[in-house]
Amino acid sequence: MSAKILVSGVKPSGRPHIGNYFGAMKQFMELQHSYESYVFIADMHALTNVQNPRQLAENTLDVAIDYLAIGLDPKKVTLFKQSDVPLVAELGWIFNCITTMPYLERAHAYKDARAKNKEINVGIFDYPMLMAADILLYDADIVPTGADQKQHIEFTRDTAEKFNRLFGETFRLPEPSIPESVGTIPGTDGRKMSKSYNNTIGLFAPDDEIAKAVMSIPTDSKGVDEPKDPDKDNVFALHKFFTEGPEFAELRDRYQAGGIGYKESKELLIRNMSKFITPLREKRESIAKNKSDVLKVLEEGAVAAREKANLKMDDVRAKVGFKLT
Ligand code: AMP
Repeated sequence: MSAKILVSGVKPSGRPHIGNYFGAMKQFMELQHSYESYVFIADMHALTNVQNPRQLAENTLDVAIDYLAIGLDPKKVTLFKQSDVPLVAELGWIFNCITTMPYLERAHAYKDARAKNKEINVGIFDYPMLMAADILLYDADIVPTGADQKQHIEFTRDTAEKFNRLFGETFRLPEPSIPESVGTIPGTDGRKMSKSYNNTIGLFAPDDEIAKAVMSIPTDSKGVDEPKDPDKDNVFALHKFFTEGPEFAELRDRYQAGGIGYKESKELLIRNMSKFITPLREKRESIAKNKSDVLKVLEEGAVAAREKANLKMDDVRAKVGFKLT
């Protein structure tokens, strides 16, 4: 039996942060050995808010380097940039034609943007349909993502079902792979860590940036000796990812018993975060020196991804009536 298929991506709309890593990227890395994996850089999605060509190109190359630095092996994973497979826009268009506006108006991301009175371009509104195309074009069985993408995967499944109903069995229904233990990683202000909130801690951040970000996390005003609820503290929420084993259990006890101040907790977090990030950052620096190797990985990935996508689109075109016999 052939291996099951994994598809996912990250938007090059800024530097990846630890939320992207623990929500999604870590899974790409861990699952690459057991799935046929297609991992892309979602530059077409990023264009909805990065409209500076130099910046977009720079961010895209940076994410390619990031993928390699976290340990994705191009021999195992097809690594490519979304815009190198323009067929995805064709499939997205077909999905637009079978989807209603009120349906897309239910998307949480769209509702949030409306509630904040943000300017919403058509690309942002239509994001779930391009995302459905990203996933269904490669016959994904699983889509590793953070909890914030759950609704979009449901949209993808609905779209696949609708297409199958209208035109005959064509698309496999993908399952989300959302690490329950991770949930949504909070940013330095306690809201969801997000590039658009300016509350991120970079996955490859230098030590001074880590320290500055952690020190800026707001806490309540409890003194050192007062008992604290670890589950209500934004600093502790990040310890879950960087402080391990007995040290973590001991920290929880000290929070509950009193005797640890937020300053000490932050200093410990800075130390452990730096221990985790430093080797990643060093590996990234060495990969970044060989830009031509990275570009080659993307070129080869694009060829493989287009080959797979072409096969699927042949079937889709025939099903919708684009093929004349
Ligand atoms: P994006 O940068 O929006 O393309 O997100 C890339 C991946 O990271 C997606 O699978 C998101 O679900 C995941 N992600 C983004 N922010 C967080 C967060 N704060 N916590 C957990 N996962 C996240």
